[in-house]
Amino acid sequence: MIGRMYLKQVLKVAAGAVAVASLPLARRPPRTGCILMYHRVADLEVFDARLDAWNVSPARFETHLEWVSRHARCVALQDLTRTVSEGVQARPVVALTFDDGFGNFHRCVLPLLKRYRLNASLFVVTGQVGLAGPYSFDRWALRNAPRTPSDAWRPITWPQLEECVSSRLVSVGSHSHRHLNALEAGNDELAEEAGLSRDMLVRHLGKDSALHYAYPYGSTRLGQVRQAYQRAVRRAGYDLGVTTDPGLAGEESPRYGMPRVEVSACDGPAMLRAKVEGNLWPQRLGQGLRSGRREG
Ligand SMILES: [Zn+2]
Repeated sequence: MIGRMYLKQVLKVAAGAVAVASLPLARRPPRTGCILMYHRVADLEVFDARLDAWNVSPARFETHLEWVSRHARCVALQDLTRTVSEGVQARPVVALTFDDGFGNFHRCVLPLLKRYRLNASLFVVTGQVGLAGPYSFDRWALRNAPRTPSDAWRPITWPQLEECVSSRLVSVGSHSHRHLNALEAGNDELAEEAGLSRDMLVRHLGKDSALHYAYPYGSTRLGQVRQAYQRAVRRAGYDLGVTTDPGLAGEESPRYGMPRVEVSACDGPAMLRAKVEGNLWPQRLGQGLRSGRREG
């Protein structure tokens, strides 16, 4: 098990190196944009290679925002498809998304979004907002919480979400109600996940929230975003759904199955650029070689 996890890390780093090295040969696909996917942004103090937690440190995250603000056109998620369909863009179009809803989004990400005047979408698990302990699905925190500051894993609260929304830079969407893996849930349960979380978001944050849905685990290839789930999300009233399938998004992307690009702990600005420009074949190859279920 541990050997497989280390192999995953090695594959990721190798895929990244190939992506950066081959960037001069790559051409950005026309009429596409990049939906970047983050999770926690914190100084962990503990690196646990057995649990691929996709943490990005605050210092590294700021280098990403600096790069995005200088070299990309950052738009709100709901504007991405319309923006890329307007024609060839001088700079790559980017939308920032954050899954799970950690308190460190409020403490660390929100001030940086304000400083750089950038939009972002935050996807929260409505049934566990404000929890005192780690999220029930956060395997990294369940293992490491006793030896790390709570900032690394504490779920965000409703008052903190209100503050995020009032900045007018953050749109809060749903990451389901209980973070079920669709492989282990029936269609009725999935419809309930989408509906309950939308009701809660609208009740707490107003009708302009809950526009978007990020499927937990979110891999179409692994069967976690099946058609019935997508239909349930549409019927619940969401405007679009995002997956964890790697790829750039455009008009051709399914409205309720949009691909994203995962950001990893070790990504510097060069790697971020390779990802945003769509030089993703090394990642796709790496993903094809990997197996097992995702943690996100
Ligand atoms: Zn998640």
